[in-house]
Amino acid sequence: MAAVLNIGGSDDPAYRYKMPAVVGKQEGRGNGKKTVIVNAADVGKSLKRPGEYLTKYCAVELGTISTFDKTQGQGCITGWHETKDLQDKTNKFIKEWVLCAKCKLPETSMELDSKKRIMFDCKACGHHYVADMSHKLANYILNNPPDAKGGIVQGGGNASKGKSKEDRRKEKAARQKGGGAAEEEEEEEADDTNVPANELKERAVGSFAEQGGEEEDEDQEWSVDTSADAVAARLRVQEAAYSKVEAAEQGISDKKAMKEEGLDEFEIEKRKIGDEVRAALEKSEAEEDAKARVAVGVKALMEVAQKRELQPLDLFGFLFDGVLDAAAVTTLKAHMRLLQKLYKATPDKKKTQSFLLKQIEALVGRVPELEKKVPTLLKLLYDADILDDEDVLFKWHEKESKKKLGRKVREAAAPFITWLKEADDDSEEESD
Ligand SMILES: [Zn+2]
Repeated sequence: MAAVLNIGGSDDPAYRYKMPAVVGKQEGRGNGKKTVIVNAADVGKSLKRPGEYLTKYCAVELGTISTFDKTQGQGCITGWHETKDLQDKTNKFIKEWVLCAKCKLPETSMELDSKKRIMFDCKACGHHYVADMSHKLANYILNNPPDAKGGIVQGGGNASKGKSKEDRRKEKAARQKGGGAAEEEEEEEADDTNVPANELKERAVGSFAEQGGEEEDEDQEWSVDTSADAVAARLRVQEAAYSKVEAAEQGISDKKAMKEEGLDEFEIEKRKIGDEVRAALEKSEAEEDAKARVAVGVKALMEVAQKRELQPLDLFGFLFDGVLDAAAVTTLKAHMRLLQKLYKATPDKKKTQSFLLKQIEALVGRVPELEKKVPTLLKLLYDADILDDEDVLFKWHEKESKKKLGRKVREAAAPFITWLKEADDDSEEESD
């Protein structure tokens, strides 16, 4: 049994609002590390909030992704996290999403208004106010709106409610066409939107906008156009895409097939995102013109990123983990321009490069025949100015790996590292 706490953190034993303490359980290992919030549904219930919201909130705050097991009432987030940290995040969730902003009592209910804003309504003091729509949880709630009983409306968001079949068909067609023509059509359709522009902006300008500032000319495609029309259009596309995924997720046969492979919910989710990244690359491959290929690829990847709330670095992870196989060299070559753009959108280049080196190690672990291609992979990414920080490369190579795989990959990388060192010496001599 979980310990009982006062909601909101007061230590008054007579306080009438109680909740069970969060129970976390670390599971899996390596890339499959995850933390189960064993009593997410129970904690949610005591807060009159769906366990899904609490789980999603913790995931967003801890910078990771989540799934929710409805039958068990358990949340699951990637990586190992201490129960104390989960409780801290839960307390923060309570402050931001449960307690009334005015009277501080956990007596609020939540609903979406006609403008698709999340509204709190306090039964204790009557205060009625808008939630923080800029938090990533807000987007999730819009897609999974609350019902009157502290759960989630079944059958997906009412995000698509009020839209005619015709509208949805058009959006779908626009999406499939891709490219500039689709953009125009989306913008046209967005004209009748009744959602205030600044809120839409806050909702839709996700992770990419944060990276938008630097090197404007080159990175423009990654930064998000925040004009009201464009944002509204993008939201609609996202919503349509979302309902499609929902539908696919409810396709039982699909899920069953994966279950039979012995994958749990979390792996299924991970695999799905990998599939979406792959689909984005395939969409780009279908373009004949090189420039259009990059543009379509960027657009498709951004759709995945926004829907799944992923950062460019996460996309690299899913690319390596879920897309690359024995043909990694060919795949990387085919999409190098796209990857360069993705790389430029990552905020910390050294971190990105270290991350990529780890991904290469993991890739060789999964596809052992790639061991002999390690120098080729490194050279490819080096020439593309992605793995271009010699400091990072040398440090990585000199670092003694405790794992057999790590040692194997470093050994395989030796010809490239030697070449790089010699090239380095040469250029130094020249400059003397
Ligand atoms: Zn109140």
